[in-house]
Amino acid sequence: MNPLKSIALNISIPLLISLAFALMAYNEAKIPKAVFNLVPYLFYAISTLILWVSWHFNRNRFIFLIIPLLLIHVGFEYLSAKKATDLFLYASMLYPLHLLLFLSLRERGLFSIWGILKIAFFLIEIGVVSYFIIYPESNLIALLKIKLFTISFYPLQDLSVAIAVFVLFIIAILVMYNKYLLYNSSFFIIVVTFYMGFYFLKTPYANELSQLAIGIIIFILLIRESYRLAFYDELTSLPGRRALVEDMAKLGMKYSLAMIDIDHFKKFNDTYGHDTGDEVLKMVASKLAGIGGGGKAYRYGGEEFVLLFPSKDADESYTHTDILRNTIAKSPFSVRNKKSSKTIYINISSGVVQRNSKDRDPFAVMKRADNALYKAKKAGRNQVVKA
Ligand code: GH3
Ligand code: MG
Ligand code: MG
Repeated sequence: MNPLKSIALNISIPLLISLAFALMAYNEAKIPKAVFNLVPYLFYAISTLILWVSWHFNRNRFIFLIIPLLLIHVGFEYLSAKKATDLFLYASMLYPLHLLLFLSLRERGLFSIWGILKIAFFLIEIGVVSYFIIYPESNLIALLKIKLFTISFYPLQDLSVAIAVFVLFIIAILVMYNKYLLYNSSFFIIVVTFYMGFYFLKTPYANELSQLAIGIIIFILLIRESYRLAFYDELTSLPGRRALVEDMAKLGMKYSLAMIDIDHFKKFNDTYGHDTGDEVLKMVASKLAGIGGGGKAYRYGGEEFVLLFPSKDADESYTHTDILRNTIAKSPFSVRNKKSSKTIYINISSGVVQRNSKDRDPFAVMKRADNALYKAKKAGRNQVVKA
């Protein structure tokens, strides 16, 4: 997919959620109070769900994101005005940095060494903030309220705004480079939503609504992440065999597909190593992902791929598959090791078939495509055979 299009797609879901809640806060006077009274309960409910799902999916970074929000929520609710103001000050500086840190740390078991270090760090954070809230340190507070800009962002301090800009800048760069787009696009909106809630603190319910919005964004991120885990291949980022089976069940009477296999891949792995083999798989997958003619690429398993062409006949699919075969055959791939670098070329073979009335199910179509692929291999490889 076009990178800009995938950025837009990924960012639109969290953005819409955040905007919906911003609209609610803006139209506060027109909405019955009872709706807003529910907001904290919904926030607790969604937080509990997030804790439970993150724990089960070993997506612990969300635990470290939602607990501070809960603590901030409870703090604003139950602390004295003076202490809540200090909490506001510390949270507005620490939360985004905390988020950036836990975003960049790799996901590990909560009770592995790394997990325990994370928990320890988190407890220290909470301990330090709690200490400075219970025993206010006026020198520190004066330091944090340093003036940096000519305009004021009250109630946010200049330093908080500077931190926000810094964190958003880093996440924006990651988004631009398509790094973990699913995560980073959501985190960008989470940071913006967090600061909106704080900036409009005096607007009734704005902060509660922003927390609920963040909870919902995280929860949807978790659902999308589990979808990705189930249907997408980790190495190549192509949809995997499960997605293929699902998509084939949705097809109409007319479709065609191409079964693809990399030529002499075993020899390649043996000569250059498994890691380089993986790089080749990624290269081939990225070319296959760009298939024309309304086709969609899947990693079927190992070094085998499938191109699915809904409502296309075998001739059309043949044309598109053969163009792709030719493109791959002409793409130089450089193999580097410590001493030298060498350019090699990868070939693929493919068998193309169209569904006919004798095929009882999609697997019968695949079987015929596999036979055509076998013919392509026998005929000398680097070619597409139409059954
Ligand atoms: P042919 O031209 O007949 O297809 O020969 P081939 O060597 O490609 O055929 P074969 O199916 O015997 O070899 C497939 C190899 O693909 C074997 C396996 O080591 C390798 N392979 C499968 N999955 C992966 C993977 O995820 N990474 C790497 N690096 N290699 C893989
Ligand atoms: Mg094979
Ligand atoms: Mg092969």
